[in-house]
Amino acid sequence: MLRSVILAAADSPRLGRLVSSASLSKNVASRFVAGDDVDAALAAARELADDGLSITLGHLASGTATAEDARTTRDEYVLLLGRLRAAGLTPAAEVSVKLSALGQRLDERLAYENALAVCAAAAEAGTSVTLDAEDHTTTDSRLEILSDLRKEYPSTGAVLQAYLRRTEGDCRELAHAGSRVRLCKGAYVEPESVAFTDALDIDKSFVRCLNILMSGEGYPMVATHDPRLIAIAEDRARWFDRSAEEYEFQMLYRMRTEEQARLAASGNIVRVYLPYGTEWYGYLLRRLAERPSTVLRFGRGIPKT
Ligand code: FAD
Repeated sequence: MLRSVILAAADSPRLGRLVSSASLSKNVASRFVAGDDVDAALAAARELADDGLSITLGHLASGTATAEDARTTRDEYVLLLGRLRAAGLTPAAEVSVKLSALGQRLDERLAYENALAVCAAAAEAGTSVTLDAEDHTTTDSRLEILSDLRKEYPSTGAVLQAYLRRTEGDCRELAHAGSRVRLCKGAYVEPESVAFTDALDIDKSFVRCLNILMSGEGYPMVATHDPRLIAIAEDRARWFDRSAEEYEFQMLYRMRTEEQARLAASGNIVRVYLPYGTEWYGYLLRRLAERPSTVLRFGRGIPKT
């Protein structure tokens, strides 16, 4: 219940403005977000790279109401990729992009063209792009755009959400050679008709999907902080005889940092999702929905206006 309320708030621009204006909220956000701009993102990425971690950077864009907004996001990513390359941070760093921020809800063709420009800039910088997963109404369109992008940029990464009932099938489709697939539980409020809502059912689906990806020919990217699922992923990697270069773990910036270090020290590739930008409230609320104890502390920062 609390999770649903917080996740609904994560998609509310009005509440976002309120939350963003609270200084305590900003302090909390600064724990989970690299900073407002590319300079801050680069500095945080450098620290992670120095610790032997890989990175995927995501720009936290405001709601994309116009084609101009979408092009602004595209340009932000092109700038970021150029700066990553100049700083020698590629290929350790790649980028994660939300198609909604590139105009998917306005015009799918526009989103595709903007994503193509970001993929071209990534290729130029010697790295790649992963398309973040959003709510289930966008999945078909996202996977179609992914398939088109992969014709020119085959390393473009997919994200699949274990809570969706369809995802085992999508894993089978995408477990082919060269296919980079991030598997996560899923972070949106979804109806029973399309998604598992019980935590144990989601975990079981995650394991079934993991089995498909690990036994397939692609490159699984295991995105979870869940200790049981991490242990199962390590086990499956051994079982399916995958070397440490043939899959990776992914976690969010400043979440379970000791576990990130442990996995990296034992020879695994660990990629940290590093968000930056001024529109951090939606990202922050999603993270807090996953960790309610932090929400309670965070709640005291919301003004009573
Ligand atoms: P949870 O189900 O939140 O937690 C399970 C258990 O793990 C907890 O009970 C606790 O024991 C442990 N745990 C979890 N977090 C912590 C912590 N911070 N400290 C200590 N213990 C902890 N979702 C999308 O919908 N689309 C995306 O594109 C997307 N990309 C993602 C990229 C990355 C790199 C990651 C890590 C997540 C992404 N997510 C995305 C979010 C994801 O779907 C989940 O909502 C989120 O990761 C929480 O699920 P979890 O598997 O980490 O564990």
